[in-house]
Amino acid sequence: MRKILSFGLLALLLTHCAGPGPTVSERSNRYDPHVLNQVSDFIRTQDPKKGKAVVVFDLDDTLFDARSRTLPILRELSLENDFKATYPQAAARLSAATLNDMRYDVRNILKGLGLDDEALVKRVTDYWLAKFFSSRCENDEPLAGAADLVNQYAKLGATVVYLSGRDTPRMGTCSEKSLKKRGFPFGKKTRLVLKPDGKMDDLAFKRQAMETIEKLGQVIAVFENEPRNLNALGEHFPKAVLVFIDTQHSSAPDSPTAEAHWVKDFIPGPPPEAAPAVDESK
Ligand SMILES: [Mg+2]
Repeated sequence: MRKILSFGLLALLLTHCAGPGPTVSERSNRYDPHVLNQVSDFIRTQDPKKGKAVVVFDLDDTLFDARSRTLPILRELSLENDFKATYPQAAARLSAATLNDMRYDVRNILKGLGLDDEALVKRVTDYWLAKFFSSRCENDEPLAGAADLVNQYAKLGATVVYLSGRDTPRMGTCSEKSLKKRGFPFGKKTRLVLKPDGKMDDLAFKRQAMETIEKLGQVIAVFENEPRNLNALGEHFPKAVLVFIDTQHSSAPDSPTAEAHWVKDFIPGPPPEAAPAVDESK
C-alpha cells in the first residue's frame, strides 16, 4: 500500500477503500481484483513529466495458462506405442488427465495422478521439456479477461512490456503469434522482452531487463505469477503496484511480498473490503 500512496492524492482516494485493512493472510478472501481498475486510474492520471506509464506482464501462467500447453503434450505421449508398452498405467492416466491435474512441474503432475516411479518421471520430463519450450506456445490459452485488460491499459496510454523467461530462439516467433492471435496489443506501443539464450537464469535475466525497462518511463504496475520475480520487480520499481497472479508457480521458497495484490485472473472486481449493500426496503 505504501507504494500506491506515492502516486498522489488521487491514488490516495482510490486506494482508501481497499486498505489498509487486514493483511492478505488475515483476510477470508485474499483476492483483490479491484486493483486491476486502480491500475487503469493510475495510467489515466500519470503525470507526463514523470515519464510515460509502463505496465509489465509476464507471459507463462500470468497472461497465458501454461497448463493449456502441457496437457496436450502429455496426452500425445500417452498415445505413443513404446510409452504405452512400457508404462501402460501411466499412459491410461495421462490420456484421461484434465487441466486441473496439471501442475508447474511434471513430477508433481505424475504424483497427483498416483505415479511416482523415477524412471517414469525422467521419461515424461524429457519429453515434456523438448515440447514445452518450443513453438507450441502459439496455441496457449489466455487467462480470463487478459487480452481485454491489456488492451484497455494500452488505450489509456501505457506502454505494455511483455517480460518473460521464454527465450527468443525457441519461442520468440510463437510468443508473437500467440499474443496477436489472442488479441493482445502488439506493435509500436509494446515490447516483447525474452531471453536471448534459454540457458540464462530467469531471475538474472529479468533483473537485467529491468534496467532497460526503466528507461521506457514510469513503471506503474507489474504482473507476475512467480513470487521471486514479483518481489525482485517490486524492489527495482518501488512505486509500482505489484499484482500476483495466483495460478501456479515454481517450488522456489519465496512468497509474494505483503504489498502484493492477489488476483486469479484479469476480470476486475469490487474492493475486497467493500461493505455488503444494504437493502433499505426491509
Ligand atoms: Mg510466469
